Amino acid sequence: MQIITEPRQMQAIAEKLRLNRQLIGVVMTMGALHEGHLSLIKLARQSAGTVMLTIFVNPSQFGLNEDLHQYPRPFEQDVALAKAAGVDYLFAPEAGSMYPVNHQITVECGALGQRLEGERRPGHFNGVATVVSKLFHITKPHIAIFGEKDAQQLAVIRKIVEDFNLDINIVAAPIVREENGLAVSSRNIYLSSQERSAAAVLYQGICHAEKSIAGQKKNLSEIAAEIEQMIFSTPGYRPDYVTFVDEERFEPAETAVAGKEYRLLLAAFAGTVRLIDNGKIMA
Ligand code: AMP
Repeated sequence: MQIITEPRQMQAIAEKLRLNRQLIGVVMTMGALHEGHLSLIKLARQSAGTVMLTIFVNPSQFGLNEDLHQYPRPFEQDVALAKAAGVDYLFAPEAGSMYPVNHQITVECGALGQRLEGERRPGHFNGVATVVSKLFHITKPHIAIFGEKDAQQLAVIRKIVEDFNLDINIVAAPIVREENGLAVSSRNIYLSSQERSAAAVLYQGICHAEKSIAGQKKNLSEIAAEIEQMIFSTPGYRPDYVTFVDEERFEPAETAVAGKEYRLLLAAFAGTVRLIDNGKIMA
């Protein structure tokens, strides 16, 4: 596995691989690699001849009061995990080479980036869209794997590909969960052991929604309110939002229509830690 830190060098390698007709698959992360990331790398390994992994804690997607400086950066451990998972190229730039002092142009997401996570984290999706666009240009992938864990981010990235006419195949990877249903995340280390076991409530909420809809309940707002109540009744927990969107346009959905796909999106605070989760539900 080769470790690259300079955008130009990564680009030159990607260009050469393309000239040699290599199929490039990329997985973009902020590091602190876990089972979720490894599942994305595995999917990339299955669908591409060359696998690139990017590790970059992107400052432009963090708000002023967020955890940019505390975010875990166990680089040596990540290198070992990436190597063992069969990554061919690890691109791990410094912030200064991604955003030199005269960097000015950014990607603006529009309405999709301003709802839900975007409303709670102003500017977050513009930061994501900017860095993902830059990383697309740097790694020149044919295939890019993103996790359903960050469902709104995935919707934003699909929209970038559509609106900017990018010739990249976006593959969605299912959410990897711990035994109690908690979605694996680099930020789970911030949870106390009590908060971690109580986190099962989010997955229980998704299961509740699945059961309700399978039982012909159509009122999605009512189901969302029931899940909010489940979260409120969990000691140390409070919901931020619980809402359904239609899977196609990612717009709020109030009533389930048979045969359509919806996504239940949840965000909750466990003490000061904010958790997000989601599940796709067929009506
Ligand atoms: P991050 O390093 O948290 O920015 O995540 C990098 C990529 O891994 C994103 O596409 C995430 O959606 C994905 N990811 C993170 N956690 C999980 C998980 N538990 N299951 C599947 N994919 C995940």
